[in-house]
Formats: sequence, structure tokens, C-alpha cells
Amino acid sequence: MCQGRGEARRKKEWMMTDDIEERAVLARRGIMDHSDCEDCVEDWTFLMRQGRREFPLGLRTVLACLAFAEREGAVPELPADWWVNINRRYR
Ligand SMILES: [Zn+2]
Repeated sequence: MCQGRGEARRKKEWMMTDDIEERAVLARRGIMDHSDCEDCVEDWTFLMRQGRREFPLGLRTVLACLAFAEREGAVPELPADWWVNINRRYR
């Protein structure tokens, strides 16, 4: 576990010193309703920015990341019925 963490830190340092790839950050502090949007299949998205490029990050992707994080113990376990409700809405 410690080894993995050290590796992640090294990778982070490498990413921070790499001036070509800028870190992606939230461009807007909020979630955007895309339920009426015809350009994507997402209901909800976040607007990300990397350098001058802006791109959407779908809530489904965020939830998939959260599921990985939970499985790896990076976040506390979420109630099973919470995931059931999520799957019902965002499958
Ligand atoms: Zn959209």
C-alpha cells in the first residue's frame, strides 16, 4: 500500500513538472443540467478546464470514479441502497 502511494506521489511530481500537460480543473463551481441537451447523452455534467480547453465531465464518469475509489478504500463505504438508487437513475 505504501509502495503504491509512493508511486502515485512520484507520478504526481512528474505531472506537475511537465509543463506541456496542464492540470484539469473545474471551470465552473456547479453541476450543469444536460437533460434537454441534444449534443450528448449525459443528464448532468461538470465543466472542466485544462489550459484554454474546456470540456464536459459527465456525472456518470464521476460516479464510476467514486465506485473505484470506494472499492480501493479511498473514501468511506457508501450505503448499498445509495448505489441502488444511483443505478436506477444513471444506468
Ligand atoms: Zn450535453
